[in-house]
Amino acid sequence: MKDIYNVTYEQLNTFFTENGISKFKTKQVYDWLYKKGVTSFEKMTNLSKSDRELLKKEYTIGLLSLKNQLTSNDGTNKFLFELDDHQLIETVLMEYKYGLSICISSQVGCKMGCDFCASAKAGFARDLTAGEMIAQIMTVNKVTNQQIDRVVVMGIGEPFDNFDNFIKFIAIVNDHRGLMIGGRKLTVSTCGIVPKIYQFADLHLQVNLSISLHEVADDIRSSIMPINKKYPINELIESCKYYIEKTNRRISFEYALIGGLNDDETHALALSKLLKDMLCYVNVIPINKIQGGNYNLRKIENIEKFCGILRENGLMVTVRRELGNDINASCGQLRRSQINEV
Ligand code: SAH
Repeated sequence: MKDIYNVTYEQLNTFFTENGISKFKTKQVYDWLYKKGVTSFEKMTNLSKSDRELLKKEYTIGLLSLKNQLTSNDGTNKFLFELDDHQLIETVLMEYKYGLSICISSQVGCKMGCDFCASAKAGFARDLTAGEMIAQIMTVNKVTNQQIDRVVVMGIGEPFDNFDNFIKFIAIVNDHRGLMIGGRKLTVSTCGIVPKIYQFADLHLQVNLSISLHEVADDIRSSIMPINKKYPINELIESCKYYIEKTNRRISFEYALIGGLNDDETHALALSKLLKDMLCYVNVIPINKIQGGNYNLRKIENIEKFCGILRENGLMVTVRRELGNDINASCGQLRRSQINEV
């Protein structure tokens, strides 16, 4: 059986046409699924009984099974979901002034092996389908009964290592006949898979791009992020410049401050030099504690000092608010398992 969340508008059109049914049904089905949030074909009452039977024979509605939900003191919620093949993933729902933002996973586990990230520690099982990415939104929607405004693909996994499914997900989530979440309300983060950054640029999407940079010297970056051995800093920055030139969109560089490793004045100056005159901003992330990790966390004064140097050198800087730290729902803390204590 196929998951209907994994079906684009065009694919559903084809299905109906092949079965001699009016394409107008696609609009109705999308409406039920994404505007009304209906989770059974039975409830699609403006479809004939035989159309509903046909859909039921061909498709399932792939809601995820909720295994656990934790709520942080700051209102952040973390959901542990079980997939059809019993694999586990996590999804996070965060409250901001402007509304609700959901952080979805793109793979079960991760191959990238970044040393500071819990998602890498449990290894890699498989890619998520576009439908399973959509299902995270739909299930959280259903469980919380709240309207989700923004989507960040910053949960477990490397979205550019699952590029085709990720792009299909964007097409479905973006569709004005469906969920209608605009590109500017979508953000994808990559650790720097350079050929995919070029491919992404050429697609001219409105989606925001974040790069997990964290360090500007190749030797240190390679020691904490293995991807850097394959695509070193100069190649990464070249691809970012290409993206900016093609799309005229600002890139966000994520920089997790790790005490004693990448957080002193020299680093701040090197980072300023590297990103000078680029259309970008830097998102400084206080490093989060993970199980088995022994990185030093930084005090707020140190973070402010580091950001001050970047600002003096003309960079736009924001410090990421830490949400959900008490339930291990912050950056780098998500994993494909039940373990919730640090
Ligand atoms: N694989 C993608 C998507 C994950 S996004 C990527 O690497 O960009 C998750 C973000 O949290 C990334 O910027 C990642 O580098 C960062 N991160 C990972 N572990 C962290 C930790 N312990 N503390 C703070 N940020 C961390």
